[in-house]
Amino acid sequence: MMTTYHLRNVDCPACAAGLERGLRKIEGVRAVSIDFGTLSMRVDAADLKAVESAVRNLEPLVTFSRVLAEAPGRPTAEADFDLKREIQPLALATAAGCLGLVLVNFTHREGAASIGLGLLAFAYLVSGWKVLLGAARNMVRGRLFDELFLMSIATLGAIAIGQYEEAVGVMVFYSIGELLQHSAASRSRASIRSLLDLRPDFARLRRAGSWVEVQPEEAVPGDEFLVKPGERLPLDGQVIEGEAFLDSSPITGESMPRRAQPGATVLAGSVSLDGVLVIRATRGAGESSAARIATLVESAAHLKARTERWVTAFARIYTPIVVAMAAAIAFLPPLLVAGQGLREWCYRALVMLVISCPCALVVSVPLGYFGGIGGAARRGILVKGSQVFDALAACKAVAFDKTGTLTRGSFSVRSITAAPGRTSDEVLAWAAAAESLSRHPIAASLRAEAESRSLSIGTEDEASEVRELPGAGIAARIGGRLVLAGNERLLELEGVAHPKHEGGDTLVLVALDGEYAGSIALGDEPKSDAREAIRALRALGVGRLAMITGDSSPVAQRVATEVGIAEVHAELLPEGKLEVLGRMIREVGGARGSTVFVGDGVNDAPVLALADVGIAMGAGSDAAVQTADIVLLTDEPSRVAEAIARARRTRRIVAQNIVFALGIKAAFLAMGAIGVAVMWEAVIADVGVALLAVANSLRAMK
Ligand code: ADP
Ligand code: MG
Repeated sequence: MMTTYHLRNVDCPACAAGLERGLRKIEGVRAVSIDFGTLSMRVDAADLKAVESAVRNLEPLVTFSRVLAEAPGRPTAEADFDLKREIQPLALATAAGCLGLVLVNFTHREGAASIGLGLLAFAYLVSGWKVLLGAARNMVRGRLFDELFLMSIATLGAIAIGQYEEAVGVMVFYSIGELLQHSAASRSRASIRSLLDLRPDFARLRRAGSWVEVQPEEAVPGDEFLVKPGERLPLDGQVIEGEAFLDSSPITGESMPRRAQPGATVLAGSVSLDGVLVIRATRGAGESSAARIATLVESAAHLKARTERWVTAFARIYTPIVVAMAAAIAFLPPLLVAGQGLREWCYRALVMLVISCPCALVVSVPLGYFGGIGGAARRGILVKGSQVFDALAACKAVAFDKTGTLTRGSFSVRSITAAPGRTSDEVLAWAAAAESLSRHPIAASLRAEAESRSLSIGTEDEASEVRELPGAGIAARIGGRLVLAGNERLLELEGVAHPKHEGGDTLVLVALDGEYAGSIALGDEPKSDAREAIRALRALGVGRLAMITGDSSPVAQRVATEVGIAEVHAELLPEGKLEVLGRMIREVGGARGSTVFVGDGVNDAPVLALADVGIAMGAGSDAAVQTADIVLLTDEPSRVAEAIARARRTRRIVAQNIVFALGIKAAFLAMGAIGVAVMWEAVIADVGVALLAVANSLRAMK
C-alpha cells in the first residue's frame, strides 16, 4: 500500500532526487517517489518507521507529515510555510549589510571602516550559513554542482577578489529570493489542494438516538448522518429521509442542481441547497468519491510528463556545464590574451555562476502540471498523470463508442414484434429476466420497461448459467429454459433461425429454447450535448472523428449523422473495436499525433487501454475507470473537448515558463560574459523569473 507524506524544507530537485535514491536502497522499500512540484512523497514499504528515520538521516533539515491512511490525500489547506518567521534573520542581515556598506564606502575613519567590514561579515554569515553549510554537506556526499554550491563558490569567489559588498548582496538577495519563491510555491500548492478539499471536517452521526458531530473518518458504512441546508455532505451514501436540491458541481462539475429524494445515491462534497437530509453512509470517508479524487490528483503528480523529466535531467547536466564555462571565462582570456586582468574576468565568471541557478524551471514546471490537473479535477475531469496531458494536447483523432457515450444509453422500447403464438409481453418478460444481471445499458432499459408494465415470467427462478457475449448479447437459463437476448450475431452463433430485420432502431432478438420468439425495437437518442461535443472538437482542430460501435450499421449511421460524425465503424465485437482503433492509431501516429478513445466502459475497457488516451465516462464499469487515463465524472461528451483545451493550455503555460526562464538566463549569461551585468542584478533577475514562473503556473488551474 502506498503512503503519502507532505514534505517541507526540500531545497532543490536534486536534493529530492538524492533523497529518493537514498530511500530506494533501504531494505523493505518497494517503491518510492518524491515530487518536487507538490512536495509530496509516496512510499510503499514494509516498515514506514525505518523510512522516516532514514529521511531524518539523509536530510536532517527536511520535516514531513504523514497524510492519514484513513483519509488518503486529505489536503492540507494551509500553506506549509511560515514566511514571517523565516524572513526575520534576513531582515536583520539586510539592515546590517546596508549599514556596513555605508560605513565602508562613505566614512574615512579607519575604525568605522573596520566596523563596516565586521557588519558585512555578520550579514553574510546570517543570510548565508544555511547555504554554506548545505553546500559543504552536499560536497561531502559527493553531490557537487547544486545551486547551494553555485552560490557558495560565487560569493566566496567575490570575497577572494575583494568584492565584499557584492558577496553580501548576492547572499542576501539569493536567500530572500529563495524564501519568496518557496512561499509562493507553497501557497500555490495549498490553494490547488484547498480547491480539492471538498469534504467538511465533521459528520453529524446518529448515535444512541441523537445526532453527534464527529470526524468523518469515524463513520463506517451503514451509519446514518444528517445534513442541513447549506452544508456539504461528508460521506457518500443513500438518502433515507428528506428531500433537497443538491449541488454536485464541486465533484462532477455538473451545473444543474438535482433533486435528491429517499433512495437517491449522493456523493460526498456536494452541497444540500435547501433541505435537511438523513443519509445512510455507503462508504467510509477514505473511500468517498471526493477522497478518491483528492488521492488521484496527488498521485497523478507523481506520474511525470516527459517535459518534467526533461527539466530534471537538464538541471543535472546544466549546472556542471555552466561551472565549466565560468572556469573557462575566468582563466582563458587572461591566459591567452595579453593585458586582460584576471580579477575582471573572474568577476564575470562569478556573475555567470550566480545567474545559472535553474530554480525557476524546476519549481514552476511541475507546479504548472499540478495546477492543470487540479483545475481539471474541479470540472469533473480526472486526469491520471501529467504525461496524459502531453498526449492529450497532441490529440489528432478522437474515436467514440456509441451506446452510453454519444447516446444516452437509456433505451425506450419503441415496438415489440412477437413470433406467431407468442405475446409481446411474454417476449419482453423473458428478455428482462435474462438481462437481470447484465450491466449493459440495454439490460437496464429492458428491466425498467418490464417493471413499468408489471411483467413477470411467472417463475420464481432467477437467471442461472448466465453467459454474456460482449457485442452480441446474453444467454441464460431460467426455470429450466434457455433464453437468448441479443442481436442477430447472437442468434447466429447459437444456431437459431430468425427473420431478417432492417431499420434504424437497435434490435434485441429473443429466443426461447432455441426457437425465435420475437424482437424488441429500442430507440436511443444522442445526448443533448453530443452534437456540440463534436463541433467543439472540430473547432479545436481535431481532424479525425470516428464512431466505433458494436451496434448495427443503420443505427450507427443514423446516430453518426445526427451528431455530425462522418467515419463509422459498426457491428464490431470487442476484438474488432481493438483492430479498428489500432489501425487508427497507426495512421494518425505517423504524423506524431495521438488518438483518444472515449467510451463508457461497457464492452470497451480493452480499447480504452489501447488508445493513447482512454477517456471513460463516469457511470461506466470499474474496470474502465481503472484502465482509463482520464475519467469524466459527468456523462457529457463535451467534456472531451474541454479536457483537450485544458491540456493544451497547461502545456502552453509550461512551455512559456521554460522559454521565459531560459531566455532570461541566456541573456544574463551573455551580459555577464561580456561584463555588462553585475552580480546582484543577476540574482534579482533570477528571483524575479522564478516568482513570475510560479505565478504563471497557477494560471493552469483556472
Ligand atoms: P457500443 O459499442 O455501441 O457501446 P456494445 O459493444 O456494448 O455497443 O454492444 C454491441 C451490440 O451488442 C449492442 O448493440 C447489442 O445489440 C448487443 N448487446 C451487447 N450486450 C447486450 C446485452 N446485454 N443484451 C442485449 N444485447 C446486447
Ligand atoms: Mg458502450
